[in-house]
Amino acid sequence: MPDTFSTAGPQETAALGRRFAADARPGDVWALAGDLGAGKTHFVQGIADGLGAAGPVTSPTFTLVHEYHGGRLPVFHFDFYRLESASEVLALGWEEYIDEGGGLTLVEWADKFPAILPPGTRWWRFEIGGGDVRRIVAD
Ligand code: ADP
Ligand code: MG
Repeated sequence: MPDTFSTAGPQETAALGRRFAADARPGDVWALAGDLGAGKTHFVQGIADGLGAAGPVTSPTFTLVHEYHGGRLPVFHFDFYRLESASEVLALGWEEYIDEGGGLTLVEWADKFPAILPPGTRWWRFEIGGGDVRRIVAD
């Protein structure tokens, strides 16, 4: 049964991420799906906070992958939004990150290239409700 959460604003979505940071284990891949503005990056922000990683989390629009160190686990933050093919993801060192990085890999727009996600990937689906309401469905 999927778990469904509802948040009423960006800080609540970040707080949800902070709470679930405790579940993260080295090598985990968490896939975040949902439209622009659905709250994926705020969730990542909360997870990074929860792990104690340093620095602000912004969308990796230009750098394509952001790394956050200094917390309980490193965070590798990918965003597939602007990528055209799975081979572009592989060229970023995808396999090294997930197989050897020993961190938590978070992937916005992961549903664009589902074939490269490893077995056991945990899905979080973000939906925009009325106003500031967001629904987050966790597999
Ligand atoms: P995404 O990464 O999915 O594109 P962001 O987290 O970058 O989304 O942005 C979400 C936008 O929606 C921000 O402008 C934020 O202020 C707004 N927002 C409104 N309500 C919420 C909510 N409940 N959770 C997250 N963001 C919200
Ligand atoms: Mg984003």
